Amino acid sequence: MPSTPTYAYVIIGAGSAGCVLAHRLSEDPSVRVVLLEAGGRDRHPLFHMPAGFARMTKGIASWGWSTVPQKHLGGRVLRYTQAKVLGGGSSINAQIYTRGNAGDYDAWVSEAGCPGWGYADVLPYFKRAEDNQRFINAYHDYGGPLGVSVPINPLPISEAFLRAAQEYGIPYNPDFNGEKQDGIGHYQVTVRNARRSSAATAYLRPAMGRKNLTVLPVSAVTRIVIEKGRATGVELAGQGGSLSRIQADREVILSAGAIGSPRLLQLSGIGPADHLRSVGVEVAHDLSGVGSNLQDHLDLYVICECTGDHTYDGYTRLDRTIWAGVQYLAFGRGPVASTLFETGGFWYADKSARSPDIQFHLGLGSGIEAGVARLKNAGVTLNTAFLRPRSRGSVRLASADPAAAPLIDPNYWADPYDRAVALDGLRMGREIMRQKALQPFILAERLPGPAVTSEEDLTRFAHETCKTDHHPTGTCKMGTDAMAVVAPDLKLRGIEALRVCDASIMPLLVSSNTNAPTIMIGEKGADIIRGRAPLPAVSNLHQREVA
Ligand SMILES: Cc1cc2nc3c(=O)[nH]c(=O)nc-3n(C[C@H](O)[C@H](O)[C@H](O)COP(=O)(O)OP(=O)(O)OC[C@H]3O[C@@H](n4cnc5c(N)ncnc54)[C@H](O)[C@@H]3O)c2cc1C
Repeated sequence: MPSTPTYAYVIIGAGSAGCVLAHRLSEDPSVRVVLLEAGGRDRHPLFHMPAGFARMTKGIASWGWSTVPQKHLGGRVLRYTQAKVLGGGSSINAQIYTRGNAGDYDAWVSEAGCPGWGYADVLPYFKRAEDNQRFINAYHDYGGPLGVSVPINPLPISEAFLRAAQEYGIPYNPDFNGEKQDGIGHYQVTVRNARRSSAATAYLRPAMGRKNLTVLPVSAVTRIVIEKGRATGVELAGQGGSLSRIQADREVILSAGAIGSPRLLQLSGIGPADHLRSVGVEVAHDLSGVGSNLQDHLDLYVICECTGDHTYDGYTRLDRTIWAGVQYLAFGRGPVASTLFETGGFWYADKSARSPDIQFHLGLGSGIEAGVARLKNAGVTLNTAFLRPRSRGSVRLASADPAAAPLIDPNYWADPYDRAVALDGLRMGREIMRQKALQPFILAERLPGPAVTSEEDLTRFAHETCKTDHHPTGTCKMGTDAMAVVAPDLKLRGIEALRVCDASIMPLLVSSNTNAPTIMIGEKGADIIRGRAPLPAVSNLHQREVA
């Protein structure tokens, strides 16, 4: 009988966090690491061209999931893109590099009970990850794996947007990841030498040659094997329904993302017992927080028609596409080198908020993302998202079949405060687009359209057009309360040799995009696993609670 392949660490999911873990853990040549990924390689050139993002929410490299009907959005079902490719979200995202607010991490300590995860604790990991092409100071560094740069050829309309926001009253900020998050400015982007810097290209590729690291494409991990309260390995689906196993002699590390991780835990019998029984999954460990506490940012948006070809909408014409290709290949510049969302910022809808509660992303076109309206002539889109939603949703199983899509319920706007602040954010966005500095570029607002002004009409517009900002988190939250899934050392409560390390462990959603924070979690998680980041004695506390 062939023996089961055995590794020290079995990492499930080669996404933003999984690639970091694979790189860092395999730095020790005496340790054998396997990284299992259900998605394919990132071979297609579109993954590496910054503007390739325009194709990424339209079905490429995605699991193809949707939400359940959203009760508080008029019953709408929203497309819910989650990456299925080497590099995970970092290979298909809009490449915006933001870290959130210092207060977010301090709240992880003070509100969520996660000592060791305050801003001062996590900042060194952001810096260790980074190869920043411009900023070197107390907040930034260079020489790390992840390329971070500023947009290389901002369009005149982007500069006009920055002036318009300042006219509206939002100050210019050259670095949202520095001393202050507040303000309007250029985003830093995970781009190096005009190519996307994903976790796969930045972390995995340089480690691929290591003899002790195996990167294994799989159809899917279908179960984590639990024996006598310990994770001993994983089960993989093979051809024709066959199953095979991989053994972990140190740990199984789950990095399948904020939807994939709670999904796989529940398929493995770890989760709320009642729910598991209701879908016919045998309960291995009753843990009610698994799949609960889902938090996500919801985008509303304004789309305006331009007075001329001020954005990249015209580049769907063949002659222009060819010219853009030539510019990119010959000079590494032009439309293909643009991430399409290059400017934006953070400001206040609720003036009493502790830090900015609205994020803006200016999209250099219309219809950039799936489901968003595309204008006939050139358009420009301003996304506005409320950053600290109070609503909580869930990820549950539709059935015990590992191939079935999960029931994703972000439960957007369950808390009326989220709706009120989000609509104020949209109103701010509309005002910015009406400022004098943008008038030479903007013909008219097309969506929501000038006639939409009342609270009722705006709400209806939002219900019909809103979309995910792709930031699910919290479904395996870290903490010490009854709903915590992992302790601050990322160990799953009540099962040995199993950790979760990805966006799902954030107890509270950060006030920004989530890729850089997830890469930070991978970096810090690797140090915790290697015993290099001693945490305050929470694991003892957690053991007491579980016992
Ligand atoms: C369209 C889109 C745009 C975004 N834009 C931005 C942005 O501009 N800036 C930003 O900061 N953030 C952005 N984000 C969010 C950010 O990319 C994610 O928060 C981050 O990538 C999450 O990392 P992760 O490691 O938690 O999970 P992921 O990166 O999603 O990785 C999980 C991996 O696990 C694999 N997997 C799942 N289940 C299994 C299984 N059973 N077996 C084997 N493999 C499995 C998946 O295929 C996937 O590759 C965006 C996300 C999306 C989807």
